[in-house]
Amino acid sequence: MKKVVSVVSMLGFVLPAFAIEFVTIGTGGVTGTYYPTGGAVCRLVNKYKKESKVRCGVESTGGSVYNINNIKSEELDLGMAQSDVVYQAYQGTGKFEGKPYKNLRSVMAIYPEIVTFVASQRSGIRKIEDVKGRKINLDNFGSGTRATSKILLKEYGIVEDDLKLAGSLRASEAPDALRDQKIDGYFFIVGHPAANLKDAANSTPIRIVPIVGKKVDGLIKKYPYYAKGVIAGGLYKGISQDVESFGVKAVLVSSTNTSEHAVYTITKAILDNFDSFKKLHPAYSKITKKSLLEGLSAPLHDGAKKYYKEQGLL
Ligand code: GLU
Repeated sequence: MKKVVSVVSMLGFVLPAFAIEFVTIGTGGVTGTYYPTGGAVCRLVNKYKKESKVRCGVESTGGSVYNINNIKSEELDLGMAQSDVVYQAYQGTGKFEGKPYKNLRSVMAIYPEIVTFVASQRSGIRKIEDVKGRKINLDNFGSGTRATSKILLKEYGIVEDDLKLAGSLRASEAPDALRDQKIDGYFFIVGHPAANLKDAANSTPIRIVPIVGKKVDGLIKKYPYYAKGVIAGGLYKGISQDVESFGVKAVLVSSTNTSEHAVYTITKAILDNFDSFKKLHPAYSKITKKSLLEGLSAPLHDGAKKYYKEQGLL
């Protein structure tokens, strides 16, 4: 929520010079990668709060769709979202059919997120087609995971009614549900490594199911925001080989209502400290300053543009 707070001195005078702009970043569940990413961004931004007068805070939320909807209603100033969901929101397609959100703005496309399907080994699920008639968690309403998993399943000709259960647990609840056999598998679209998958792999034997073949190739061809991706082997207990899938980018977004100063400050804080930023999460290991501008599906925010221009990145 946008709040400008004037600090009242001990004498009771309002000191406008102390006016602080609070910005809140909507993220995702606490075992995902959005939440620590919001934390990493705010940590760098708050280093400069004295000079910049911008103070950054993080909120754990239901994910991409929730974040965009709440930026629109001005409950959030910024949020993390999947590039496909950003595209759909800006263009008014998919979940946002007929409601294009033209004030949505990109700040940076931070890291790749991979469509991940985790199955218990005992379920015997080895490919996406095997989910028919099984208990599958699609993630909570408002998540990008749920929106994109449904698009993927549709490509395979699978609808919710073809599943024994189309669950709406939050990603953080899925590992326990998998261990307790309440579900046979779950989707999570996330940057790796994620605490969520560590939880799953440490509590029950899992398989990460490859998402490959003609159907996915078709999706990638059809939509500009999907690309092939790999979950590297060795990140999780029992998963030693790379697993092929496809993915999107995790994008920090805001709106034309978010101040140019705040967005400029955030962009600058990350880019001026890029090497330290990259060390804050292993999902950032391969990112570059240039890659931050790849996979944006809504126009850049003026505050971000200003800083990229100053740096010769645009
Ligand atoms: N991509 C997921 C979503 O929008 C969230 C991933 C995360 O929390 O890191 O639902």
